Amino acid sequence: MAVRLIKSIPEMQSEAESLRLAGKRIGFVPTMGYLHEGHLSLVRLARERADVVVVSIFVNPTQFGPNEDYDRYPRDLDRDLRLAEEAGADIVFNPSVEDMYPQPYHTYVLVEKLTEPLCGASRPNFFRGVTTVVTKLFHIVKPHFAVFGQKDAQQAIVIQQMVRDLNFDLDIVVAPIVREEDGLALSSRNTYLNPQERQDALVLYRALQKARQLIDGGERSSEVILREMRKIVESVPSSRIDYISIVDAETLQDLRELRGDVLIALAVWIGQTRLIDNMILRGLR
Ligand code: AMP
Repeated sequence: MAVRLIKSIPEMQSEAESLRLAGKRIGFVPTMGYLHEGHLSLVRLARERADVVVVSIFVNPTQFGPNEDYDRYPRDLDRDLRLAEEAGADIVFNPSVEDMYPQPYHTYVLVEKLTEPLCGASRPNFFRGVTTVVTKLFHIVKPHFAVFGQKDAQQAIVIQQMVRDLNFDLDIVVAPIVREEDGLALSSRNTYLNPQERQDALVLYRALQKARQLIDGGERSSEVILREMRKIVESVPSSRIDYISIVDAETLQDLRELRGDVLIALAVWIGQTRLIDNMILRGLR
């Protein structure tokens, strides 16, 4: 069946209401568009568990800082519609910025603590923008469950906390990271990379692999692992480390020793492009 494009917020809300009244299970995949296999894996997962799959495409201005890439973020709705349909989406919801943030706009959702480290440290308003837009989208799409990627590990953890804290009546599903064959995590921002930078961008995955290798060999000291990861990232001249961190996968607090559920996350500038990647290791002893 052809995917249906809905741009109007009231139309999406009344469609969601009708679907719920008809007993349909709504699965939701929020995205900023320029869809790639990472997004599409989320859509396919939603397809398996839902009667109706809604994909939102909205480049959310409130999660970008003043000097970030909001204006040049890649956009191609026609391509996205085709890809979303192929992956099994029923509805693509693509509201306008004016409708999502009518002026004056004064209301934000803030998750404390978990938004301070990692990406929150270098992108001060990022998570406030994410939790606000996701709240709005949940109210509009009324999903029974929503799928997020582990690619944005901190984001998934923050959203899960928000859903618990604010009693959102829905489930959060977290889907694994989809990578290129050589290991680079798929991202809409990879389109910014020139061929040399595309090569250099592999240092994120290589650093994670090195960490895994050390951990498999019994290493449990964060300091030792971080030092080896930094060495790999710094081996390419185009790189600048934003952060490389080893944290508790629940609290996001730094760990000196790797124990329990551990998130190893990094954000690295490759030229003018900021890339993130991560790995979660569970039940380390
Ligand atoms: P974005 O359009 O970048 O906001 O991403 C929308 C959703 O797709 C988020 O839940 C991301 O975590 C997820 N996502 C992005 N890239 C990947 C990937 N390589 N693998 C899995 N999920 C991803």
